[in-house]
Amino acid sequence: MKKLENLEQFKAWAKENAFIYPSSEIYGGFAAVYDYGHYGTLLKNNIQNAWIKSMVQDRNDVYILDSGIFMHPKTWVASGHVGGFSDVLVEDKKTHKRYRADHLIEEWFENKGEKVDMDKKTAEELADIIKTNNIKSPEGNDLTESRSFNLLVKSNMGTTDATFSDENVTYLRGETCQGIYLEYKNFVDTLRLKLPFGIAQVGKAFRNEIVARQFVFRTREFEQMEMQYFHKPEDKKELFEMWKQARMGWLVNELGISKENLRFKEHEKLIFYATAAFDIEYNFRTLGGFKEIEGIHDRGDYDLTQHAKFSGQTLDYFDQDTGTRLIPHIMETSVGLNRLVMMVLEEAYTEEDVVNAKGKKDIRIVLKIKKDLAPIKVAILPLSKKPELSAKSLEVQNILRKNFVTAYDETASIGKRYRRQDEVGTPYCVTVDFDTLNDNAVTVRDRDTMQQERINISELEAYLTEKFN
Ligand code: ATP
Repeated sequence: MKKLENLEQFKAWAKENAFIYPSSEIYGGFAAVYDYGHYGTLLKNNIQNAWIKSMVQDRNDVYILDSGIFMHPKTWVASGHVGGFSDVLVEDKKTHKRYRADHLIEEWFENKGEKVDMDKKTAEELADIIKTNNIKSPEGNDLTESRSFNLLVKSNMGTTDATFSDENVTYLRGETCQGIYLEYKNFVDTLRLKLPFGIAQVGKAFRNEIVARQFVFRTREFEQMEMQYFHKPEDKKELFEMWKQARMGWLVNELGISKENLRFKEHEKLIFYATAAFDIEYNFRTLGGFKEIEGIHDRGDYDLTQHAKFSGQTLDYFDQDTGTRLIPHIMETSVGLNRLVMMVLEEAYTEEDVVNAKGKKDIRIVLKIKKDLAPIKVAILPLSKKPELSAKSLEVQNILRKNFVTAYDETASIGKRYRRQDEVGTPYCVTVDFDTLNDNAVTVRDRDTMQQERINISELEAYLTEKFN
């Protein structure tokens, strides 16, 4: 069985199969932005819905929010993003290609067989390391001095000339969780919440990433699914462990990712307000190894303290049990939806050696995705384009589409159509043939086993419902 080997192959396959397209291709492309096609969008929505279900429907302590992408600009001053949300950049003096200094150094040492972690190092520290070790660009050229580069994407809002002055800058949110902190008080008041509780949100975030050449792993516009859990500091240890296990369990059980391809990585150096931080990493073949997909961080009382200070509002919580007031502490789980799509596709993509209908050796590409996540659940395929078969097939589709996302395909040979559905992960294909017109039965083919079963149309819906359960 073969898997996807590299990013170029991955990108070409994802485009060819209507999962992900590079943005603005007719204008020559637009770096670090991608568009999701029919199957990609359905898959992304399924992953998003599974996350919301696990957070909100399956629990009693997490609520959901949809806040604006634009927020009061002071938000980003209070959060520390205006002052310090930056990566350190170096430039190749000859090619003028830009690199993230921390990544460049890590790769340079990796090529020498040494493992170093440059996370959270300052521009000065990174500059020192580059100098002392005489580190060059990947092309072997000298590098410029390293400098910090703010990642917030700026915008302007309003309709007067003053809107476009520097004082009226607004920001596209750099992370979705800030919207949660701003609405924390409304949630407590209007839903009468008691600690501990969480607020979850899914939405777009924007960052001026210095280097974004890793397909949808790192883009300048992306989607985060973040949950902020408000709690008393004394419960921290137990809750942190609970969330670590819950998140790892979700990736394995709900997204169908094998345990060996996932691991926790503890941050070596914590950001000043954090008390504990772990990433969950996935072993991306196409990116050369384990890379972060999710962060689980204990943020202490930093966020609410900062927003209370900058807004002049009281954001503390009255504990009725003890009659005291406190600023709740926050732990977060923060995962990139696009990285999950990439992970699920990479994990599921499989090339199998098979023997085709003519007895010849062949390769079958099959997306062995969890059935719940499959973009299309059932494909309806008339054996031929004859009008009586089309009519019967559409009848069958109309029965199934009430409960399943279906596709209808009558082009090309039946073998080719099976393969198309295999490649986008459709768990079941229903074939309508000439016998159907007499016996009212269809053939159901299973994606993974390729076994076929004859089922009466009157029982088809119940049969498939059972299969999905
Ligand atoms: P990295 O170290 O890879 O830049 P980060 O530590 O800055 O990521 P966080 O700020 O913790 O990431 O964001 C939480 C999650 O959001 C990440 O685990 C990742 O899944 C996702 N994410 C962050 N930046 C991007 C991006 N540029 N493109 C796609 N997803 C992203």
